[in-house]
Amino acid sequence: MNLEKHLEVAVSAVREASAVCRRVQADLVNAGTVSKDDKSPVTVADFAAQAVVCARLGVAFGDLPVVGEEGSEALRGDNDLLAVVAQHAGMGTDDTLVAIDRGGWTPDGSQSVYWTLDPIDGTKGFLRGQQYAVALGLIADGKVVLGVLGCPNLDGGLLMVGGEGVAPRWLSVEGSGTQGQAVAATTTADPAQARFCESVESGHSDQGTSAKIAAALGITAEPYRIDSQCKYAAVARGNADIYLRLPTRPGYEEKVWDHGAGLAVVEAAGGKVTDIDGKPLDFTQGRTLKNNRGVVATNGLLHDAVIAAIAGV
Ligand code: AMP
Ligand code: MG
Repeated sequence: MNLEKHLEVAVSAVREASAVCRRVQADLVNAGTVSKDDKSPVTVADFAAQAVVCARLGVAFGDLPVVGEEGSEALRGDNDLLAVVAQHAGMGTDDTLVAIDRGGWTPDGSQSVYWTLDPIDGTKGFLRGQQYAVALGLIADGKVVLGVLGCPNLDGGLLMVGGEGVAPRWLSVEGSGTQGQAVAATTTADPAQARFCESVESGHSDQGTSAKIAAALGITAEPYRIDSQCKYAAVARGNADIYLRLPTRPGYEEKVWDHGAGLAVVEAAGGKVTDIDGKPLDFTQGRTLKNNRGVVATNGLLHDAVIAAIAGV
């Protein structure tokens, strides 16, 4: 599959959505109104980012469905909110609703190629004025073939790309084009020397168990806690050797849009991604990864040791 056009359009769409998110987050931080209970700013940015990305994908690839996190229901009953979202998206209100609903597809086996989109992954980080990601993946025949990951607050704002035949690299989140700087996962082979990353939110990954796994591996470095798929970016760029996402409760199904883009970037950078049992992530099960439990991403060299340590804990 030639992904040149997909890459070009995806990078430009994620850049545009990242700019929308940056503006909203900057307003938030400047106004000093960042509060956990105030859901509205993140809601506005989330909807506007999905609208922007889906609209651009619709123009370029009208036949490819999008599995996006958001749906337009909440906006259809709230004209004030819709007006603000449309303004941030730079689109009319009707076009905004149509674009957002382009992301409402549920994989049902009828189409083998589709996008996964998390317009703002890591909403808690966004509200804290910290890390979040705009995550766009492309699935073909159950495999993630392209990932474009906007990380507007990481190291001044960067965008990671990688995929099948798409060299792993980082680009500025601003600017244009798809040229960038090469990235690679680390070459750490001794688990004791490894650094692992995990969620800031203990409700999203079991930090008590990850500490035990780290101890079993002889890891002494403190965990690198960072919101969103920026964790995948950290592994792909060599800022961490391992990403652990351990289930906090039985029955939670990871969402495809929380992993599609990140997985492509890490694997392109030479890393490996499975669930905690060492099974490949199964993107053929609809909007969730219901055949998997948790997620483990590593530089590849450490993968077997990490999976063994998890089994032992
Ligand atoms: P992170 O920023 O890595 O902590 O993850 C953010 C993502 O966690 C959100 O996009 C949610 O889809 C997802 N999430 C929500 N609840 C859970 C849960 N109980 N376990 C794992 N992930 C969750
Ligand atoms: Mg998410």
